[in-house]
Amino acid sequence: MTSTGFVAVAAGVFVRRCPVLDVNSTLVVGDGEALLVDTLSTDGQARDLAAAIRALTPYPWIIVNTHHHFDHCFGNAVLAEGGRPVWGHEAAAALLAERADALRRQWYEEWVATDPELAAGLAEVRVVPPDHTVHGSATLAVGGRSVTLRHLGRGHTAGDLVVQVPDADLLIAGDLVEQAGPPSFEDAYPLEWPETLAAMQHLLGPDSVVVPGHGSPVGPGFVHHQHTELTDLAWRIRDGHADGAPAEAVAARAPFGPQAALTAVRRGYAELAGRAV
Ligand SMILES: [Zn+2]
Repeated sequence: MTSTGFVAVAAGVFVRRCPVLDVNSTLVVGDGEALLVDTLSTDGQARDLAAAIRALTPYPWIIVNTHHHFDHCFGNAVLAEGGRPVWGHEAAAALLAERADALRRQWYEEWVATDPELAAGLAEVRVVPPDHTVHGSATLAVGGRSVTLRHLGRGHTAGDLVVQVPDADLLIAGDLVEQAGPPSFEDAYPLEWPETLAAMQHLLGPDSVVVPGHGSPVGPGFVHHQHTELTDLAWRIRDGHADGAPAEAVAARAPFGPQAALTAVRRGYAELAGRAV
């Protein structure tokens, strides 16, 4: 590890794990330009990240947000200073543009009891939505390197992007893949997530490195295992809904632990019942 906290995970690709929530930020360094994936939660965290990048490369950077959750994009205001482009999926950009105040309040309330410092930081953030949006895919030239942003379907949220760096055999998965804890389902589409991960698996070779949203880099075997568990969960949701089983009973036997699974089952039931989620 360098003193900046960045760890080289592939040729010219560095990952820095923020101790708060174990969030990853990934830097792809090309010749004369760089690309930063995910900007952390607060102005303070983003300033530390900017200093860490500056210690690694003098080049300007393009920003990508993997999705709209605060820990992946609330550092945009600081890291996009000077008018750097910010890329994101169109659904993520719309949520951040239309619901910035509501989201900031919701997340403040969610964290104020357990991490008041984080909550105070969230309350101060000026939300900057992506100004370059992706519908299906977009390929960017980053200092001579080709980097592709892809929306593979709904999963962790309505607007997840994965970032593929083919010359490094590396894929940045955002929270579609979770290593530090169970997947998070608060804004998820648990019935569609398995297909989205199946599409991701098609992009991976046997030696590919996958950077999850939180935790350590993983390989295709880990993604395969998470796909199997998400598929199991989706079938339990469908069966439980068909049988009229209480969500708690389905969650108690489902993968990822009863708490995470209960959120997933409730989201899945609502979707199957035709309620807006
Ligand atoms: Zn997330």
